[in-house]
Amino acid sequence: MDAPVKVQVRIKPSAKWNNLPQYSNGDLLSDEDSILVKLSTTKVEFNQEKEFHFDHVYDINCNQKEVFEKSTLPLLNQLILGYNVTVMAYGPTGSGKSYTLGTTNSNMELACSNHDDAGLLAQIISWIFSRKTDSTEEQYQISKVQISFLEIYKEEIFDLLSPVVSKIEVKNDKVENVIMENITDLEVHNQEKALHLIRKANLRRQVKKTKSNDSSSRSHAIISLKLEIQRNGEIRHAVFKIVDLAGSEAVARDGTTGEIKNEGIFINKGLLALGKVINALNSKNVSHVPHRESVLTRALKDSLSGNSLTVLICCVKADVQSIPTTSAALQFASKAR
Ligand code: ADP
Repeated sequence: MDAPVKVQVRIKPSAKWNNLPQYSNGDLLSDEDSILVKLSTTKVEFNQEKEFHFDHVYDINCNQKEVFEKSTLPLLNQLILGYNVTVMAYGPTGSGKSYTLGTTNSNMELACSNHDDAGLLAQIISWIFSRKTDSTEEQYQISKVQISFLEIYKEEIFDLLSPVVSKIEVKNDKVENVIMENITDLEVHNQEKALHLIRKANLRRQVKKTKSNDSSSRSHAIISLKLEIQRNGEIRHAVFKIVDLAGSEAVARDGTTGEIKNEGIFINKGLLALGKVINALNSKNVSHVPHRESVLTRALKDSLSGNSLTVLICCVKADVQSIPTTSAALQFASKAR
């Protein structure tokens, strides 16, 4: 069987490349400051010294639709058959994770006007509602869509769609199933309502309450779309998770103190554990998947198993100033697969 977790790379285009002509093959435009060169659809060269291999490397000038088709459409085709699927974005702050996933409120506004820059989330929701139809032409019909929005901040989980933001306890039952009780799952009947709820939840993210300048980069966001699917009277359930991970540079760097250091330690713990879980799944060592090592991996347990499919999109920047964070992100991502 194919690896359950595919790892892809998207390089953020530099603003200064915007006015240059594109190469005919769509590869990375040459730029003397660029630390990344796309060598093939599965290989990048970093800083003229090292090659990294992935399941897919996007063209620098690829658009949101292409990313959807390459990363997410194959997952949707499995989702409708009843598999749990996940798309997650990993990488340093500012590398394009939220842009790619389309999880910010500004991106959500683009989605509402059907703008080409709308990210994966809006395209996923649009696909799901196009299959939620009363027509009998489709073999598999989506009969119910529910949405939940969780934020993980400093190893605590918050439910952003409950009437008042509330903490969710994570427990394990006797057979090691993860139990997360009382998560708010709101039924949505159309795309507009789904996007509206996500915007509302975004405004309630815990990190807004901290002094952190960059609110979304310090916590993980997990948006779940739970589906009820009908086929010839038979009912199945499946969940699509969209995971916007905290900035991977959050490593407690020398010199950081107080809250920033504290946050960094928790973010690290989650991302390290995630790397180990993906590694175990892809090496088919499914009997020893270390989900218990962080709240993030426990919360994702049902979606990170040998029976589910995930695409991790590693977002990176190609400018010289980003050498340390890009190097660390590429190493994490290439090791994970
Ligand atoms: P992150 O979520 O990783 O912190 P963002 O998604 O917020 O980063 O991206 C930082 C900025 O770069 C945003 O203004 C975003 O619109 C822009 N950006 C990111 N990726 C791209 C891209 N592929 N094309 C155009 N703009 C992008």
